[in-house]
Amino acid sequence: MRAQNLTIAVPDKGCDKNCPYCVSKMTGAISANETLLLRNLPKVKSIARAAQVTSVLLTGKGEPTLNLPWTERLIEEFAEWPVELQTNGLRLAADMKNHNGAIIDKLAIAGLNLLAFSLDQITQFDDMAPMFSALRKRGILVRVTLNVTDLLPAELTFDEALQRCKQSQAQQFSLRQITIPNHVNLSGDEASAVATWIKAHGTPALYDKLVGQMKERSTHLLRELPYGAKVYDVDGVAVTYFDYCVQDNHGDDDVRSLILQEDGHLYTSWNSLASALF
Ligand code: SF4
Repeated sequence: MRAQNLTIAVPDKGCDKNCPYCVSKMTGAISANETLLLRNLPKVKSIARAAQVTSVLLTGKGEPTLNLPWTERLIEEFAEWPVELQTNGLRLAADMKNHNGAIIDKLAIAGLNLLAFSLDQITQFDDMAPMFSALRKRGILVRVTLNVTDLLPAELTFDEALQRCKQSQAQQFSLRQITIPNHVNLSGDEASAVATWIKAHGTPALYDKLVGQMKERSTHLLRELPYGAKVYDVDGVAVTYFDYCVQDNHGDDDVRSLILQEDGHLYTSWNSLASALF
C-alpha cells in the first residue's frame, strides 16, 4: 500500500475561535485514547515509511496549539518527514505579542517546517504579519489559506489578496471555498446550524471570481497536489485553490492519506471507522 501523506489529529483540547463554518462541528468528535495513541506511534512510523509517505500534516478537531505538549511531541516524533501544522493562529499571535514568539521557538526546535494559517478576514493578514516575519527568520514556511465567505468584502480582487499576502511575508497562499463536507450527519442542532450558515454565507460567486482572476495570472505551474489541486508561482508566491475540506473523503480507489486519529487508530478515511488498519 502506498500513501502520499500521513495526517495526524492532535488530541482535541478545544478551540479559541468560533468559526460559523467549522467543519469539526459537522463531522463530530471521536473519543481520545492517548495511551493507545502513544503505543501505536512506532507502528504508525513503520507503516508511513513502508507506504512511502512524503509529508506529515498535523491538524485536529480543535485548535492544535491549545494542546502544545502533544503538538511538540508529534512534531519531534515525525521530524524525519517535512511536518506541516494547521492553525487558526490566535494563540501564536498572542504569544508573539506577549512573549516574543516563545511558542514558535519551541515548534522550530521540535522540527516544524510549515505553519498553515486558516484566515477568514482580509484584515487578519495585518494582525499576523509580525509572526509571519518571525517564522521566516526561524526557517518555517508560512501558508495562508483564505476561507472564502461573505466575511470577505464582495469587491475583493485576487490581486488585492495577493498583495496582502506578500506584505505579510507569507510565502504560500490558498483560496478555499467553504462547503458542506460529504458524508456528514446534519441531524444534530450544531451540525445543522453550521450547514445553514454555509448555505446562507458561502459565496461561490466571489470564490469563482478570485479563482478566475488567479488563473489569468498563473502560467508557471510548480506542482500538483494530492486530489489534483495545482500550485502556481504567482509573483513569487505559491498559490493554489480548492473546494474540499481536509476532513472530507476523496479516496475512492486509492489511499492518498493515512490518518492517525486521536483514538489511537490508523485509518485510510476520515469518515469511516471501518477504514481502520489497526
Ligand atoms: S479554528 Fe478550526 S476548529 Fe476552531 S472553530 Fe474555526 S474551523 Fe473550527
